[in-house]
Amino acid sequence: TAAMESVVSDDTRETPSAVSDQRHRSLISYVLPVYNEREGIWAFHTALTEAIAARPEFDFEFVYINDGSTDGTLPILKDLAKNDHRVRIVDFTRNYGHQLAITAGIDFAAGDALIVMDTDLQDPPQVSLELIDAWREGAEIVHARRRTRRDTAFKRTTAHAYYRLLRKCTEVDIPLDTGDFRLLDRRAAEELRRFRERSRFVRGMVASMGFRQQEVLYDRDERHSGDTKYPLGKMLRLAVDGMTGFSTVPLRLIMRLGFVVLALAFAGIVYAVCMRLLRPDITVSGWTMLMVVMLGLGGTQMLSLGILGCYVGRTYSETQQRPLYIVRQVICHDED
Ligand code: UDP
Ligand code: MG
Repeated sequence: TAAMESVVSDDTRETPSAVSDQRHRSLISYVLPVYNEREGIWAFHTALTEAIAARPEFDFEFVYINDGSTDGTLPILKDLAKNDHRVRIVDFTRNYGHQLAITAGIDFAAGDALIVMDTDLQDPPQVSLELIDAWREGAEIVHARRRTRRDTAFKRTTAHAYYRLLRKCTEVDIPLDTGDFRLLDRRAAEELRRFRERSRFVRGMVASMGFRQQEVLYDRDERHSGDTKYPLGKMLRLAVDGMTGFSTVPLRLIMRLGFVVLALAFAGIVYAVCMRLLRPDITVSGWTMLMVVMLGLGGTQMLSLGILGCYVGRTYSETQQRPLYIVRQVICHDED
């Protein structure tokens, strides 16, 4: 048995160490959505590669998702891939939007940890190193939370209010002032790949998964070049997706509103009857009041229908079960 044991222990000593030699170097994937970033993308890649040089103990890959850019971003990305063997490009057939671009990147990335960040240098590459450090210390999901941000006053105030409102409306612990800049451990990424809903609010989905989550504070920079690719319409849609995806409070609010209106109507009836009986000389004024109530009620009803519509529309698009995105090609270093 002693001989056997030594054989066995020899075996066990050898196998894991061989495995760990292979697995010694962790691979970190950057998930990088790009939409019409012609002016800034080269500077971004340079800044990112310079920053990660400070962590030579890891291997890196850069998954750029070209989200249907129309300004000649793709040729620049191809140049990047020619010069850097760690670059891969996932090329969409059209513009599917930021959230779906992130989703594709997470689907394609192979790393032991994935970092999602914007490609306009608003998320500083230096901060992604802090995310990596937090991951190495045991966190499975690391959010980068904005301590300050330098967007327009309108964007800052609406975003500030929205995150607080959303938090009140949902049971999911969605972190405040956090965009999609975050690190996901491989396990968390695997789980996230199973979420196939169409109307996506990725930051909420990640928050809902559990795992050991941690946050790192950072100061969000200004856009390096070009304009925001999130005009008001897209921003509103994202806000609605977040709310409808994680809360049914607006639906319940409609019912409460109904009760309030009913109570008001009842009070009105009581008032009218009392006036008639006690003060027959005063008639309850007619036309103006009627008009106000009619318009008020009509508006409330349409608003309520609209809220309902958001949920119904969401249900409809989910039942269609269409593919989330279509990829024209995946381009690697040695291909053209
Ligand atoms: N983006 C994208 N598809 C879109 C809009 C934006 O892939 O339809 C990318 C964009 O290139 C950037 C990131 O998503 O890397 C964030 O967009 P942007 O900086 O315009 O948003 P903001 O920071 O103004 O909220
Ligand atoms: Mg930006």
